[in-house]
Amino acid sequence: MLQFSPRLISQGDETMSGPTSPEEFQKQMQDFLQKQFKAFGTPGFAGSQPSGTSEETKPETKREDFSFAYKPRDVKSHLDRYVIKQDEAKKVLSVALCDHYNAVREAFDGNEQSHYTKQNVMLMGPTGVGKTYLIRSIAELIGVPFVKADATKFSETGYVGGDVEDLVRDLVRQADGDVERARYGIIYIDEIDKIASSSEQQGGRDVSGQGVQTTLLKLMEETEVPARAPHDMAGQIQAMMDGARGSKKSGNTINTKHILFVVSGAFAHLDKIVERRLKESTIGFAGGEQDDVESDRILEHAKTPDFIKYGFEPEFIGRLPVRVVCHPLSVDDLEQILKTSEGSIIRQYRQSFAAYGIRSKFEESGLRRIAELAIEEETGARGLMTVCEKVFRDLKFELPSSRVKEFAVDDELVNDPRGAMESLLANAPEQDEEEVDDTLNLFAESFATQHGLTIQFTDDARKELTRQARASSLSVFDFCKDHFRDLHFGLKLISGNTGQTEFELDKSFIENPDTALSQRVVASYNETKS
Ligand code: ADP
Repeated sequence: MLQFSPRLISQGDETMSGPTSPEEFQKQMQDFLQKQFKAFGTPGFAGSQPSGTSEETKPETKREDFSFAYKPRDVKSHLDRYVIKQDEAKKVLSVALCDHYNAVREAFDGNEQSHYTKQNVMLMGPTGVGKTYLIRSIAELIGVPFVKADATKFSETGYVGGDVEDLVRDLVRQADGDVERARYGIIYIDEIDKIASSSEQQGGRDVSGQGVQTTLLKLMEETEVPARAPHDMAGQIQAMMDGARGSKKSGNTINTKHILFVVSGAFAHLDKIVERRLKESTIGFAGGEQDDVESDRILEHAKTPDFIKYGFEPEFIGRLPVRVVCHPLSVDDLEQILKTSEGSIIRQYRQSFAAYGIRSKFEESGLRRIAELAIEEETGARGLMTVCEKVFRDLKFELPSSRVKEFAVDDELVNDPRGAMESLLANAPEQDEEEVDDTLNLFAESFATQHGLTIQFTDDARKELTRQARASSLSVFDFCKDHFRDLHFGLKLISGNTGQTEFELDKSFIENPDTALSQRVVASYNETKS
């Protein structure tokens, strides 16, 4: 990312002095560009208007821009199609999301609820258990733009404010430049626990963490984010051009009031803080809050003071009223994901083999084994992708060019994919005469389309081709592609010499294509001479 530097632009004697803040930098940049454009006689400058959406450029909020007619049960049913388990999270999120978008709709209808608190969400849970998937699926259902970022990223640039605001601008990009739609999009920030500033948990970042929280807080409440990043020179120029043309397409600023913020993290060690508090309350008051909380459900009891101890500012945590815990997934859950989730990775694999006319049959034993290996990865459902990638790596490369037309994914194949593949190739069924004929006709057709030359095979050539293809592990079509990869060069030469556009290929072309071709080429030269 471009960092702003104190002496970025110099023009003749006129060197910009170092800005002390992003705002100052933006203003200096605008002044500078304005001067440059005046020199070219360009009227108007959209970027020079004061912050806040101007009357002139403010896009009209249209009711039809945003219709929301879901009930919490509808949202949960949608989530059930994709996300396995996490039932409590699904319920809480469905209610919160419906509340939020009902409030947005009301606001668009001119009935803004003055005391409405935005239902920003905090998701807690280990990696790969469906946190992002839940929110992304909801965003898809509602049809609002969705942006995901990593809170740890905010420290790297050294230019914290600019970077965080980029998230809002990304929403506009996701909404194909539609600022209106971006105004009620969803911003998802992962690894939020990494910006906690307390020393109570390891990895906290003290001052900079606090700084990021403050900046995020501003966005989460309500602020106007410039549609063009101050450090984005191209964006500034574009803004100026738009202004010059009187274009109102992208307003100057994006208001963040209706943007829903979802933050997530694993919150390592938060359980200790909660546990300690629960114990203390039990000691202080007999029969206190919870005598016996299951250890894997401890996070569900986290309260605002626990988060403050963990290193969050009270104002920040106060802006995240909806808190949801996602639980680790078991082997059974992973198996269930493979079998029933509409987003199951197995569907993808099935489709990618089907694209080559190969039927893959996933057996119970294979799915179970994939799930068992995935759990060892300790990355939740992400482990499924890792395991499948390894299992299908060679199969996806070799099978499309082979004669294998179907195969079963059982535990044997998952345990030893390479061995299984070799046996599949060795035992691949042979194409019958009719299939071979069809394939050769298909090859001749595609050759004619590509090179404008007609080829035909003699009966002897067909027999020899079939014999050789069978001896290799390739399908007849792929065997032809490989065997005749230089054929068009030679035939085009002959065609150039003799005008011939139709060629009959005999057995010699199959036995030794290079020799057969060069003999015909030489003959065609001799023919021209005589
Ligand atoms: P995280 O909890 O780290 O945000 P993700 O939601 O990004 O994890 O999960 C990564 C991928 O794993 C998802 O895209 C999805 O394919 C799969 N996945 C994770 N959890 C589930 C689940 N509970 N049900 C179905 N698929 C899941």
